[in-house]
Amino acid sequence: MIGFQYTRASDIGDAIRLAAGDPNAKFIAGGTNLIDLMKMDVELPGRLIDITQLPLKQVEITPGGGLRIGALVRNSDLAYHPLVAERYPVLASAILAGASQQLRNMASMGGNLLQRTRCHYFYDTATACNKREPGSGCSAIDGLNRMHAILGASEACIATHPSDMCVALALLEAKVHVDGASGERVIAFADFHRLPGDTPQKDANLDADEIITALELPPRGFATHYTYLKIRDRLSYAFALISVAAGLELDGETIKEGRFALGGVAHKPWRDPEAEAVLRGQSANAGTFTRAADVLLRDAKGFAHNSFKIDLARRCIARALTQASRGTPQSHSSKQIA
Ligand code: SF4
Repeated sequence: MIGFQYTRASDIGDAIRLAAGDPNAKFIAGGTNLIDLMKMDVELPGRLIDITQLPLKQVEITPGGGLRIGALVRNSDLAYHPLVAERYPVLASAILAGASQQLRNMASMGGNLLQRTRCHYFYDTATACNKREPGSGCSAIDGLNRMHAILGASEACIATHPSDMCVALALLEAKVHVDGASGERVIAFADFHRLPGDTPQKDANLDADEIITALELPPRGFATHYTYLKIRDRLSYAFALISVAAGLELDGETIKEGRFALGGVAHKPWRDPEAEAVLRGQSANAGTFTRAADVLLRDAKGFAHNSFKIDLARRCIARALTQASRGTPQSHSSKQIA
């Protein structure tokens, strides 16, 4: 680990000023990813700006009937918050599918959005990685790529986004509130994370001097027909091979509105309006769900070790939408799939 300066921000304006004045500065809250990256010489900030004392820990109902969640709300506190458990259970379920209890107790909501890929080459400074060192190459394309992307990848990077929580936030169409030297702005969740293209070093559409202040959830939470299904190599403390957040509004057996978002498949949580359009007005049955999955996966491309994920994703989508339609969401206390 390298030497760095440590500064505690006294308020949001102070945090922004400190970041704007130092191009090598990084914000730190829970530190559950950043400290690991610093220990491994992947991240080398000259200054850490501690934002843990900022007043960003509230969860409150918005005038429009949604929920505003402060960026420093801990993942555990959010998952067990009564309003989230009651109105947005798919979000609670996704959070509890991620990491470990200890990590969830430390990790902040804003930090979850900004965590970096778990591509093992990204963490190994002896290997080429365009995300860590732009222009150096991608070791994963012809390497061990079992966990890597099947959608939206580029010739520069085939990494996946590791978050479970973000998959549910994509489903719910959250908004990200940020503040920075140029003022406040609101970013639709679909526009927050980026595909790798030829700039895989940039994970999100966020400037270095901008700080996430809050997440806003719209009123619709799909609290009756939802699931978060996560398939991984072991039953806890593992990143997703494939995950699916699903939410349906039904009129009897007919789908009024259906959404599904995938994790573990791309550089960002993956939704596809064309695939969701297949669900609208159709019977909630396996045939409909498989047709929607086929549309979402029409451009999927595997590499040497991960082509199995294409069929796995197809079956996960059908299973998740079936769970949602039956009102029998995946349990994350047992984690076994029936
Ligand atoms: Fe780096 Fe992306 Fe390639 Fe992984 S997939 S080695 S993160 S460029």
